[in-house]
Amino acid sequence: MDYEKIGLKSGIEIHQQLDTHKLFCECPSLLRKDDPDIIIKRRLYAAAGETGKVDVAAFYEQSKQKEFVYEAYSNSTCLVELDEEPPHQINEEALRIALQISLLLNAKPLNVTQVMRKTVVDGSNTSGFQRTLLIARNGFIDVKGKRIGIQNICLEEDSARIIKKTDKEVTFRLDRLGIPLVEIATSPDIKNPEEAKLVALKIGEILRSCKVKRGIGTIRQDVNMSITNRPRIEIKGVQDPRLIDKTIETEIERQLKLKKQKKKLEQEVRKANLDGTTSFLRPLPGAARMYPETDIPLVKITWKMLQDIKKSLPRPKHEIRQELEEKMHSELAKALLKEGKLEDYKVLIKIYNKPGLITKMLAIWPKEIASHEKLSMEKVNSRLSMDVLETITENLASGKIDQIDVKKILVDIIKGRSVTEAIKIEKVDMKKIENEIKKFIKKKPGLRINAYMGLIMKKYKGKINAAQVVEIIKKYI
Ligand SMILES: [Zn+2]
Repeated sequence: MDYEKIGLKSGIEIHQQLDTHKLFCECPSLLRKDDPDIIIKRRLYAAAGETGKVDVAAFYEQSKQKEFVYEAYSNSTCLVELDEEPPHQINEEALRIALQISLLLNAKPLNVTQVMRKTVVDGSNTSGFQRTLLIARNGFIDVKGKRIGIQNICLEEDSARIIKKTDKEVTFRLDRLGIPLVEIATSPDIKNPEEAKLVALKIGEILRSCKVKRGIGTIRQDVNMSITNRPRIEIKGVQDPRLIDKTIETEIERQLKLKKQKKKLEQEVRKANLDGTTSFLRPLPGAARMYPETDIPLVKITWKMLQDIKKSLPRPKHEIRQELEEKMHSELAKALLKEGKLEDYKVLIKIYNKPGLITKMLAIWPKEIASHEKLSMEKVNSRLSMDVLETITENLASGKIDQIDVKKILVDIIKGRSVTEAIKIEKVDMKKIENEIKKFIKKKPGLRINAYMGLIMKKYKGKINAAQVVEIIKKYI
């Protein structure tokens, strides 16, 4: 497919849940599986906005005359989610995370921003609108040498989630309503499906360096796209960024087929299916759907606040990985990041600057030992606390123990010995060792240092310092 020839133009929108309490109340951002103890039924009606116009998408939903059932929990949702109480002050932590993300995306935060109400009449918001505030504009990321614009970064509340749907009734659960979401919209700079995927993956990586929720359903991608002389289509809810390229390819095929059949293509919102295909969701909403939220004061983003955030800006994973890979094998760098041990690594490396060894202590050996000893990682981690690892590292730095002994020490500790016992290396008379080495060399002359080392270390496993042994061997060969 020649994407340039068909004039593909695409932008993506990413919604990421933040790992904090809710945006406009203090309820936990917690999805529940147990039965709710509050059930409320409502209908929603489309009303004209301040411009006097009724939104086309809102009118469409009203025409379906549905009843909405809301499920809530008396101990983890409150009157804000039920729209029976005005929203509380904005969640300061969520605001700070949204600003972090904005700065990492090279965007310019606003000085003052207004919380807006975005009309939503599919019932997924009890109030009939979603609260959203613009945080920053005009950012960019570079993907394979090409600059992709980031138009807007907004902070908004997640909607209620659908539990059940019939012709007459939709059941929503309010546990998800109000979870802070960061919405990132790129410019329509994307020119082919592969590029769309790479952009989504890069933004995803930046998001994961901040305090965001992880796992299925915590990140959702929407794709906006058009080809020459055809209306714009929005595809909602691609769950996996690795499916974005396929979703766009399939949508282009669908449009070209319609064109061939001389059928009209409507501006519309389509839903992404799990197999990369899409299906009709609703007409594309008009511009009449936003108006100010008058229950919340203007949000000020001060210079001081931004300075504070800049000081503690997390670095994207690919940058950290690149830096680590200069110091150690890439597999080790990967393991360190995968096990989430970077912070511990930074502490230990200051005590003993051996990147490879420290990484093995943190991210490789504990796993190996757990599987060998048939112990749970939970047990292993509880025994290998940072206190224990720091003690071992300090003893390495002072030369009391040798690199070669570390794994055995970890095994002993994991099996239940105390760290002081485990690192106490039995004193062996070094004169005796020296005589033994002399004997070995006489018996088998001409071997390499490592061969003699192997013989001696095997005999005195874990009891002698390897560095000292090397020195003695060198004296006699
Ligand atoms: Zn609440």
